[in-house]
Amino acid sequence: MANDRVFEYFKVGPDSREWADWKWQFRNRITTAEALSKVISLNEKEQEEITVSLRRFRMAITPYYASLMDPCDPLCPIRRQAVPSINETFVQPWEARDPLNEENDSPVEHIVHRYPDRVLFLVTSQCAMHCRHCVRKRYVGEKDSVITKAAMEKAVDYIARTPQVRDVLISGGDPLTMDDTRLEEIISRIRAIDHVEIIRIGTRVPVTLPARVTGELLAMLRKYHPLWMNVHFNHPRELTPASRRACADIADSGIPLGNQSVLLRGINDNTETMRELLLKLVQARVRPYYLYQCDLYEGSEHFRTNVEKGIEIIRNLTGNISGFAIPRFVIDAPNGGGKVPINPDYLVSLDSEKAVIRNYEGCLYNYPQPRDYLI
Ligand SMILES: *Cc1c(COP(=O)(O)O)cnc(C)c1O
Ligand code: SF4
Repeated sequence: MANDRVFEYFKVGPDSREWADWKWQFRNRITTAEALSKVISLNEKEQEEITVSLRRFRMAITPYYASLMDPCDPLCPIRRQAVPSINETFVQPWEARDPLNEENDSPVEHIVHRYPDRVLFLVTSQCAMHCRHCVRKRYVGEKDSVITKAAMEKAVDYIARTPQVRDVLISGGDPLTMDDTRLEEIISRIRAIDHVEIIRIGTRVPVTLPARVTGELLAMLRKYHPLWMNVHFNHPRELTPASRRACADIADSGIPLGNQSVLLRGINDNTETMRELLLKLVQARVRPYYLYQCDLYEGSEHFRTNVEKGIEIIRNLTGNISGFAIPRFVIDAPNGGGKVPINPDYLVSLDSEKAVIRNYEGCLYNYPQPRDYLI
């Protein structure tokens, strides 16, 4: 299934030393329509449209991820996450540069503090791949910039003087595009803060650049437990031997893995694709965590489904596959309202005497309430 044109273009084999070297993968990312036209079929109009949409949001595709793209099918779900579409240039009135209003919840640069006990720490704007559906295009899209020492000190100082922060989520961009030394500086500083109980890393590297998950990286990370990691798989085809190896190595290092998917039109917006994705994830020891309704970033319309679609998928899966394979479906409320869980409704009625509930097969059941429960 691999796209052999990629190996021909780069003149390396899938078993070569270069291919397995994450820095080689990173250096050789595909960033122009011209280079892209060497590895997938693009007609002149498509090339032109790509060039136009690159003015809004740049492109970067690792050779590894490019090798998963179908060279002949413009609707390939891997390709659509990586290759710019002219639709990205059509901006709707309800869309925004910063749809989650993260800038408004930022007490110091690089920190987003929205919930009482946890913060988001954006340490770099660099990513291995620029996902076309990125909600942080405003931050990722312009240029690669890693946090400066001075800015890191300020952000760490904010966490240190804010004792309610017990969970720090290191994100970006993609923190695992930083080298081990730089990343360790940040993690070790956070770990040294007494009230920080857990550290989480949000990364798409196991999906787009699995070679980055090296023994050295994991040896460094395991010094800073308890550490959790959230990854971002959207389609079953992303679970390749290489990405499964990366997840296995992370899990073997004692780092629990969660997955955050985005519901994307034409990519994973049906029960069958989602079922396959979720079952492959749990086999790879990754626990599905969130399924996001697509956010309202600029140029998102072509990726969005309606809300009913997400509810329908969750309803179809509930009861039919392992409970822990089912993520929570959420809408990240526009303007910074935070994540709101959206559930199919199983409660038919509720009063002081009984709850009437409907199970996954549609059958109704009465659950009598206790008579003597006050408060
Ligand atoms: C998603 C998010 C978090 C983490 O939320 P969890 O529900 O704990 O995973 C924290 N801060 C911000 C701003 C977020 O968007
Ligand atoms: S890895 Fe995440 S932050 Fe980076 S481009 Fe993709 S969605 Fe955006």
